[in-house]
Amino acid sequence: MTRTFAEARSAAATSVTTTVETALQRAEAHQDLNAFLELFHRSAREQAARVDARMKAGDAGPLAGLVLSIKDNICYKDHKVGAASRILEGFTSLYSATVVERLLAADAVIIGRTNCDEFAMGSSNENSAFGNVLNPLDKTKVPGGSSGGAATSVAADIVHVALGSDTGGSIRQPASFTGTVGFKPTYGRVSRYGLIAFASSFDQIGPFAHNVADAAAVYNVMAGHDQKDSTTSRKPVENATLQHPGKLRIAYYREGLERAGMDPEVVAHLQAHIDRLKAEGHTVEPISVPLLDHQVPTYYILATAEASSNLARFDGIRYGHRSKNAKGVDETYRLSRTEGFGPEVKRRILLGTFVLSAGYYDAYYGQAQRVRRIIRDHTLAAFENYDLILSPTCPGTAFGHGEISDPVAMYLQDIFTVQANLAGVPAISLPTGKHSNGMPFGVQLTGKPFDEVRLLAASAEVFGC
Ligand code: GLN
Repeated sequence: MTRTFAEARSAAATSVTTTVETALQRAEAHQDLNAFLELFHRSAREQAARVDARMKAGDAGPLAGLVLSIKDNICYKDHKVGAASRILEGFTSLYSATVVERLLAADAVIIGRTNCDEFAMGSSNENSAFGNVLNPLDKTKVPGGSSGGAATSVAADIVHVALGSDTGGSIRQPASFTGTVGFKPTYGRVSRYGLIAFASSFDQIGPFAHNVADAAAVYNVMAGHDQKDSTTSRKPVENATLQHPGKLRIAYYREGLERAGMDPEVVAHLQAHIDRLKAEGHTVEPISVPLLDHQVPTYYILATAEASSNLARFDGIRYGHRSKNAKGVDETYRLSRTEGFGPEVKRRILLGTFVLSAGYYDAYYGQAQRVRRIIRDHTLAAFENYDLILSPTCPGTAFGHGEISDPVAMYLQDIFTVQANLAGVPAISLPTGKHSNGMPFGVQLTGKPFDEVRLLAASAEVFGC
């Protein structure tokens, strides 16, 4: 199987069936990575045969030959989905997410669902009820999270593209840790219908790939208004064609270079990009991150508040796990949730319920909403003068399993990624860094709302990804 979809398209001689068989075999050969919770052998083979027939007839869709994985929080009709949680064990999806429908209609083949942090809560994929995912570049390291299985399915050359979800960095951080491209579109550009909700005002679906061209091919098919998700925008979608964007005005964050705790090699790499971009004639200027030290707390107050509400539906009555030890209704709720949710999910539900409770609502939730607005306003103001913002994706490279046990230290992984979700703007992690410790790392480019075309073009043509 070719590494990228772009190569697969030019080597059109191989049948989709052969490509899919190879992908399934590779997934099985790499079972130790624990990237897949399930392979969809039957539906993948059926779809491959249909696409082969359409290719023969000359009416195949734009993604014919593309092999895809989906994160275990994206619904695919008649397939299991569980957000890597015990509480949804055995649950089968009754409908498909809009992204799944659009990708299948474009002739992509979905080969399986990938492991992730439970309900997408985490930065290391150590919170899955079904075990850690291993980083294929160094199995002693985490692949990042929460979309760790998605990132690994691409990095281990099992699929061309993986769909993940990004609420506070869950596509970009694992992309940085695994040397892949990870792209979060503007909030509202891609339908969330059929995505198991974590924090609805932050969640966004996006692709992982080996290159920007593949990510863009999938983005072009997924993007656009959806009647089933009223938060999707009606702005027309421009196809991302990756034409050179010309001379750019690029801002970079001072804090990305100066903040304590930054890996010096990540800093040096960022500086090298800045020098190169200047030498190429782009305008490159430093700005400050708005309220940097408030971003992670603001995100964790609002995301947990939304999660506590979204996860109330998992009650042991309507979906998935129901406690066998419970007598009566109250105990059914209590024990089903106690047995079904893992410790990080419980922590977030408690935190979210607390910040929404009558006595604390204004001090925490209300205040965080106001801070979010300020961060968004500052972010949008920067885009009056600049086309793009450059920053590190993460402070360092992939860490070891069990190395970060303090939740707050783990939350600080998200220091450079939550801004895009707080402000609702698009951002991408590009795998341009290689550390002397052998691990890759990314740089992050953030764009204006709905300016994906320029963001992706700059990623491909100015950053060579
Ligand atoms: N690491 C962040 C969290 O745990 C982001 C998760 C995500 O983007 N889904 O909330």
